[in-house]
Amino acid sequence: MHEMGIMKSVVSIVAEHAKAQKVKRVLLEVGKLSAVMPDALHFCFDVIAKGTVLEGAKLEIIEVIGQAKCRACGQEVELHQIVTACACGSRDLERLSGAELNIKEMELEAA
Ligand SMILES: [Zn+2]
Repeated sequence: MHEMGIMKSVVSIVAEHAKAQKVKRVLLEVGKLSAVMPDALHFCFDVIAKGTVLEGAKLEIIEVIGQAKCRACGQEVELHQIVTACACGSRDLERLSGAELNIKEMELEAA
C-alpha cells in the first residue's frame, strides 16, 4: 500500500511547517490518476498522525480530474481514468495533469 509512504511524507512536511504548533486541518489535492485511494489516505493519516502535532487534525481531500491534450486533433480531454480516448478516436494523449498530490492548505490551532 503506497498510501502509507505518501502519507508519511505529507505528515512530515506539515509537521515541519507547523513548528511544534498543533495542526487543525490539512487539505490535500489528489489527482484522479495518481492511483491513490482517498479512503486509504484517511486511514494512513490517522495511523501516522498519532503522537505528532497532527494528531486529531482533520484531513480533507479534493480529487482533481486529469487533463490531457490530444496529439491528433489538439483538443483538451478530461481524464477520468488512465486509459481514455479523445472524441476523435485517438488514444495519443499527452497528459497535462491528474497525477499530482499537493498539500493545498494547512490550518494551525489558534494559540
Ligand atoms: Zn483528438
